[in-house]
Amino acid sequence: MLADPTAQRTLLRLADLDSRLARITHTARTLPQHDTIRDLMEERRRTTDALTAATTNVDDLEVAARRAEQDLVPVRARLERDQSRLDGGTITDSKALQGLIDEIEHLKGRIGVLEDAQLEVMGQAEDAVAAREALSQRKADVEGRLRAAVAERDEQVEDLKQQAQSVAAERPGVVAQLPEPLVALYERLRASTGLGAAPLTEGRCGGCRLELNVTDLQQIAKAPADEVVRCPECDRILVRAGQP
Ligand SMILES: [Zn+2]
Repeated sequence: MLADPTAQRTLLRLADLDSRLARITHTARTLPQHDTIRDLMEERRRTTDALTAATTNVDDLEVAARRAEQDLVPVRARLERDQSRLDGGTITDSKALQGLIDEIEHLKGRIGVLEDAQLEVMGQAEDAVAAREALSQRKADVEGRLRAAVAERDEQVEDLKQQAQSVAAERPGVVAQLPEPLVALYERLRASTGLGAAPLTEGRCGGCRLELNVTDLQQIAKAPADEVVRCPECDRILVRAGQP
């Protein structure tokens, strides 16, 4: 294929624009915020699950605390009744009196046990509430960090999008200066290798970075300036440097 040396050098400008676009796309795809956001979403999911479990635990313990209080009500009532019967002095039968005194002792002991159980469950409920509050706080903290990371990512992506738009805006003007068959070849090579054209500098291909052997270099040197040469290693269009 033939293309004048100016067109070949213009092709390098096109390759440069495309490389810049590819770098911008790569940067946008590999922003560290993507990982941060993914990690924070995972943390939010875990914290939400833990918070749900902690809330259920608080509810269960509050039910248990109410039940412990209810368990005490009839025992206390009975003790009060027994105590007033005893204080009333109406029971004269010694056996009945002893029975009443024994029952009062038993009820006092029972109340002590129930009150201990109530204190235990109230303590657990208090701890559970504190754990729930801590998780709720952690969730709010994770969500705050997540919002910040998303805002940061959006800002970076928007910035890169503008950079890409400004590079892409230059492209049609450059393409218009090139013969169509050269652009077609370039695009085909770009699709298969990611880069369609590269400069040949100091015997080295700017695309694959390999040094060309002496025979290839001699052949390229002999080729007319308007002949489009290709890298023998990577097949890309080689643009010879050094010409005006
Ligand atoms: Zn090459």
